Amino acid sequence: MLSNSIAELDRRHLVHPLASWRAHEQAGARFLASAKGATVIDAEGHCLLDGFAGLWCVNAGYGQDHLIEAATRQLRELPYATGYFGLGSESAARLAGRLADHAPGDLNHVYFGLGGSDAVDSTIRFVRHYWQSRGAPERDQFISVAQGYHGSSAVGSGLTALPVFHTNFGVPLDWQHKIPSHYPYRNPVGEDAQAIIAASVADLRGKIAEIGAERVAAFYLEPIQGSGGVLVPPPGWVAAMHAVCKEMDILFVADEVITAFGRTGPMFACADEGIVPDMMTTAKGLTSGYVPMSAAFLSDHVYETIADGAGLAMVGHGQTYSAHPVSAAVALAALDLYEGGLLENGAAMGARLMAGLQGLADHPLVGEVRGRGMLAAVELVTDKAKKTPLPAAAAPGTRIFDRAWQNGLIIRAFTQGVLGYAPPLCCTTDEIDRIVDLTRLTLDQTL
Ligand code: PLP
Repeated sequence: MLSNSIAELDRRHLVHPLASWRAHEQAGARFLASAKGATVIDAEGHCLLDGFAGLWCVNAGYGQDHLIEAATRQLRELPYATGYFGLGSESAARLAGRLADHAPGDLNHVYFGLGGSDAVDSTIRFVRHYWQSRGAPERDQFISVAQGYHGSSAVGSGLTALPVFHTNFGVPLDWQHKIPSHYPYRNPVGEDAQAIIAASVADLRGKIAEIGAERVAAFYLEPIQGSGGVLVPPPGWVAAMHAVCKEMDILFVADEVITAFGRTGPMFACADEGIVPDMMTTAKGLTSGYVPMSAAFLSDHVYETIADGAGLAMVGHGQTYSAHPVSAAVALAALDLYEGGLLENGAAMGARLMAGLQGLADHPLVGEVRGRGMLAAVELVTDKAKKTPLPAAAAPGTRIFDRAWQNGLIIRAFTQGVLGYAPPLCCTTDEIDRIVDLTRLTLDQTL
């Protein structure tokens, strides 16, 4: 049991991310105390099944000795090394090589940062440098997809298409444009895959024409939109968007911060579409959330163009903790687990999760079940025919999230009435079945 004074310290002094500060002062936090596998234990001693892997990041599950030992060993040997001044560390170099081996095509160069937001920001800077190096500085306009999420940094939050990340922050939106989402369940053209792809291709071409093709620097997408509500495009959608960018000589950046490292099945979700992005951002599952790290991948031609453009001058981008050796050691250990059977287990459990959640489709509140691998969503409605969203009922801190928690299940409850699932890849069949059973119980209690 947590002492009142700790709760008070949190309420008074800790600024919580993505929270109403005033509401938090009153309600306080739910403290988690320990975790193992897919189970977390809160400060009151209640066991909860973590159906969201922390924040879709603890892909390997909690308490993995292999990761803990790798971190401990690295902390003893060399807890810090900068990449500045021509220095480096063995763990970071080995990790870069191993990631390049796994990455699609010629994404052979890796820049390590601290999290998804700074990976996205790094790529924005690399995109600008690339076009400067190619002698086309006027290519300074970016396009992303409505309902997309690309972090909350000062600049990259402009690619994020969720208004709450812009309001009152002075985000530079004048050069960060959006096209509509594919969102099959609520697409104005209906749910037919080919119609959705054709509409998105037309939207992208239209936006490029509106801006002027000679001004467009890059297009960003998530292979599956996560924070927008786990929106899964029809097969072929990502490849179709990639083809438009190739045709128009526009850089294509895949944001795989959620989808990489087995979350949707393969090591990288792009593999499912057979495409090679010009750049790719990853974080979360890279270290399984144990320590902060992101990896931004650059293809050969992007890397070579920037390197040639800079010549012997410094490319002025880097942070104190870039390529941190402890994070790199943990990421190497996480790769051992992914390569050693965890991806296969995740794929098998993902299929079981989808089948189980599909079994809820007849529930009066369920409008749609969607997902791929260990990334899924149940969209709730009050009227199935009209697809009327079940609004505030699913908001964090309100009924469904709280009920699921009381029932022993942690899920994500998006404000628009979508329940999100991203369990650790180490889940057992029993745990997957329990996630489904506890969801049904929670929905029954919501009727
Ligand atoms: N990009 C995507 C697709 C994400 O889902 C997220 C976070 O959820 C980010 C970027 C930002 O990552 P971070 O929260 O580590 O800064």
